[in-house]
Amino acid sequence: MLIKGKWVESNRRSEIKNPYSGKKVGTVSMATGAEVLDAAADAKKFSSALTAYERYDILMRTAQEVEKDSRDYVASISSESGMCVKDAAKEVARAVSLLKVSAEEAKRITGESIFTDVVESAKRNLAVTIREPIGLVCAITPFNRPLNQVVVKLGPAIAANNSVILKPSEKTPLTAIKFVKALINNGLPPRMVAVVTGDPAEIGDALVSCPHIDMVTFTGSKEVGEHIAKTAGMVKLTLELGDSGALIVMDDADLAKAVKTAVAGAYGNAGQSCRGIKRILVHKNIEEAFVRGLKEATEKLKVGDPQSEDTDIGTLINEVQALEVEKRIADAVNKGARLVCGGTRKKAQITPAILTNVPRDAAIVMKETFGPCAPVVTVNDIEDAVSYVNATEYGLQTGIFTNDLAKAFYAAGQLKVGAVIVNNGPQFDSPAIPFGGVKKSGLGREGIKYAVNEMTTVKTIVF
Ligand code: NAP
Repeated sequence: MLIKGKWVESNRRSEIKNPYSGKKVGTVSMATGAEVLDAAADAKKFSSALTAYERYDILMRTAQEVEKDSRDYVASISSESGMCVKDAAKEVARAVSLLKVSAEEAKRITGESIFTDVVESAKRNLAVTIREPIGLVCAITPFNRPLNQVVVKLGPAIAANNSVILKPSEKTPLTAIKFVKALINNGLPPRMVAVVTGDPAEIGDALVSCPHIDMVTFTGSKEVGEHIAKTAGMVKLTLELGDSGALIVMDDADLAKAVKTAVAGAYGNAGQSCRGIKRILVHKNIEEAFVRGLKEATEKLKVGDPQSEDTDIGTLINEVQALEVEKRIADAVNKGARLVCGGTRKKAQITPAILTNVPRDAAIVMKETFGPCAPVVTVNDIEDAVSYVNATEYGLQTGIFTNDLAKAFYAAGQLKVGAVIVNNGPQFDSPAIPFGGVKKSGLGREGIKYAVNEMTTVKTIVF
């Protein structure tokens, strides 16, 4: 743990195990509520004197270090999360980009000048706004992207000159700690960031309701997000929660591209991605051809040792999650779905599963299913597809494949989601665009520039 600028260890330890081999890969301290409060109080007291250029420099040099050490990061991510090394390498490359964009954003924090003479009483004034750091940001991150979920919060928080208290997932804290060490190696004042690890049942509420915190930025499940929203009280909140992410494929679509996108979105990171594809809504006229293409591509994927270079699908985070996915597949089949291929579980691994004829109300499509599944739901037309996407409680990102502009515009206008991606999947990502959901998918936006906005407050100065 990093408390008051010093790495400290406690005797109470939590073990991190490789989900594939079951072997121990490390241990971390388990903080107490008192240690969390202590860490937060000191991080709040610390006032950063870093200039925009210095923050740029720290983030840029950290990006270079992560790039140089990418093999170590890949090994660390894969061994603690079971992510296959192919996916882990993509995660590290993305972390480098996120850091570079954060560095650039540190130099772009600006305000406005406003002529106030829209009313008689203010005709001789001029106002300017500046954006100031929000203060102490509490960052709570999930297991599914052990590096990027941390970088996507710490990058903009540091760009905006905030202090941070980070609580990484208890399941994957080792990569997070390695990354914070890299920030400090590259000049970040150690008191500017605190890291606490431990059991959320013991420290979660103490952390979130702590009086020193000015903002909570949380990524994780809807259930924990809702609990945090109730516990945190009157602080700024960004909640990046789940989704039952849809890909819509219309009968005028480029089928080969749609299949390729479906495979990447449904099975990437073994299906454990918030913006992954959790259901595929296929027009009835092309369903047979689409499923044929999807099956052909799916059966080429290799499920195996995550550390092996030719593995496409590693493990889920643990056997409990794999059992849940297995249960959802069985439930859909019991309700009338056809299992076209896959769905076989061995410990924490599941072979990639295609289901057709999936009833619209089955849990596998209505809830967020975090596993390598491609449930196909037949739709009659664009209106039917859009109203079915809107029927769940989530609304993060939806992809639509169509070559008809009218259908693309209709979907863009009618879908109740944070982003509509035309001719790509919900997994589309760029650090330049806003990212976040509506409904139960969350509050606020990430995407570096937008996260910097969330992590700063506007001060107005009137002359
Ligand atoms: P989770 O169980 O909600 O956990 C997320 C984080 O919250 C972890 O660090 C967890 O600690 C911590 N936590 C749990 N209970 C807490 C409490 N009472 N107070 C404070 N913190 C608490 O989610 P997960 O299983 O790690 O991740 C999967 C979920 O994250 C999925 O729903 C996925 O969609 C979502 N996700 C969303 C996005 C997005 O950007 N929208 C991105 C990625 C993932 P422990 O891990 O130590 O329990």
